[in-house]
Amino acid sequence: MNDLKEKLNKVRARIGAACQSAGRSEDSATLLAVSKQQTADRIRKLFAAGQGHFGENYVQEALQKQKQLADLDITWHFIGPLQSNKTREVAQHFSWVQSADRPKLLQRLSDQRPPSLPPLNICLQVNIDLEPQKAGAHPGAVPELARLVSQLPGLKLRGLMAIPSVAAADQTGHSSFARMKQLFDGLRTEGLELDTLSMGMSADLEAAILAGSTMVRVGTDLFGARS
Ligand SMILES: *Cc1c(COP(=O)(O)O)cnc(C)c1O
Repeated sequence: MNDLKEKLNKVRARIGAACQSAGRSEDSATLLAVSKQQTADRIRKLFAAGQGHFGENYVQEALQKQKQLADLDITWHFIGPLQSNKTREVAQHFSWVQSADRPKLLQRLSDQRPPSLPPLNICLQVNIDLEPQKAGAHPGAVPELARLVSQLPGLKLRGLMAIPSVAAADQTGHSSFARMKQLFDGLRTEGLELDTLSMGMSADLEAAILAGSTMVRVGTDLFGARS
């Protein structure tokens, strides 16, 4: 418990300091705790320490933990690889999806979102460094996808998500983050209502916040190294 709380406080302090350096209010970046491979018990402890948003990458693993944690008011984000045959479960059991990147998935998520629930919050995943093996939409395809999301009744467009390439971050001082910010601002200029730019992880959350991130996704520095 103390260990997790200490780590949470450290990450929160880093986020607050980065926001300050960027001339923003200290609470202008949300912390998403990435709990893949973590037990329900550890999630429960982090929740007790004050963390409310959790991100999961694998549907079956997430559903199992959600069952064990059904008594807690956790906001669940799906951030992992998304396939058509999993969209129904995702649409039923998550509040946010940050890894949708093509029309078919978005259409299915909208159709399968239970009407009893509020629209599913969507951050489109962008393959900002055009890596062949990585998920995410081509940056050039993002405006049309964003317009599609804004028109689907079961979805609510919230923003963009990216996992920049490590090489790009090392070589160009995080220009990937700057390009994401440009894309994000461009959509807003077009009149689309976005409020979430999800970028930055344990190693680079400061750089991401300086570039305009409003949500950082942190696993390792909250829970310790994954096996
Ligand atoms: C695992 C993961 C993270 C967290 O990465 P850490 O380096 O452990 O902080 C963030 N975002 C996504 C999409 C992930 O899969």
